[in-house]
This record gives sequence, structure tokens and C-alpha cells, in this order.
Amino acid sequence: METPPLNSLYQQLILEHYRNPRNRGELPDGTVEVHMRNPVCGDEIRLQLRLHDDHIAEARFVGHGCSISQASVSMMTTLLKGRSLDEAESLASRFTQMMHGDAEASRDPSMGDLRALAGVSKFPVRIKCALLGFDALQEALKRSAKGAEP
Ligand code: ZN
Repeated sequence: METPPLNSLYQQLILEHYRNPRNRGELPDGTVEVHMRNPVCGDEIRLQLRLHDDHIAEARFVGHGCSISQASVSMMTTLLKGRSLDEAESLASRFTQMMHGDAEASRDPSMGDLRALAGVSKFPVRIKCALLGFDALQEALKRSAKGAEP
């Protein structure tokens, strides 16, 4: 699928992450792993996290698919390292708000490069692409929370 006509600076940033994904590759000592697919577009990612106490010590992914799905997960991983599970959860819900058109979320500096994806909210069919990495993150957080129960 083609990348929708977003603001050109933002589009460059998306393509830059797509071509040079951050934190891509296997995480041999990961503690939680989630595989997610977006059948509509054919996007696929496997997110691996290494958790230490209630923090994310490391986040990596492997995957393939459209530029939006892969850029989104690349951008996401750059923000996860060192974050608490609660912070990761709020990043995920903030990003979901942005995908539903929340303009305030799209100006939030804590969103980092992810703000480049704000324009995707105007293309409903692509929102799933942008959310794929965050769906995986939320599932990973849910599983870790379960694992933490006695
Ligand atoms: Zn896609």
C-alpha cells in the first residue's frame, strides 16, 4: 500500500524509520514476546521486551509490512527503554488518542517521533497499521501484569 499524503517533513521521518528501523532484531534474553498481525494490510510484527522489576530494560522487534506499521513500531521502541510499565501503558493510550484525532496528543513532546504519524488518523484504513506495535505493547503489558500475580 502507498503511504498516504501526509505532511512531507513527517513523511520523510516515517520513511527514515522504515528504511533504518531502530531496535530491530532478536532480543535473546527477552522476558515477554508478542506476535501481532494486521491481515488487512499484511503487516506483521513480533515485539520482544526485557522487563526488569517494573521497568522495560530493552525493547526490540522483528517484522515486515507497510512503512506506517514498521515506522510506528520503530519509533515506539525508541521511547520504551527505561520506562516503567505504567508509563508505557500511558504512551500507548496517548498514541491511541492521537489516532482517534486528538490534536493535543499530536503536540505532546513526550510522543517523540510518533507525532509524525498524527496525520494517519485521517486515513481510517491505515490506523490499524499505526496501532499494530502498540497493540503488541499493550498485550505484552497485560501478560506481564498477569505473570506478576502470585
Ligand atoms: Zn500497513
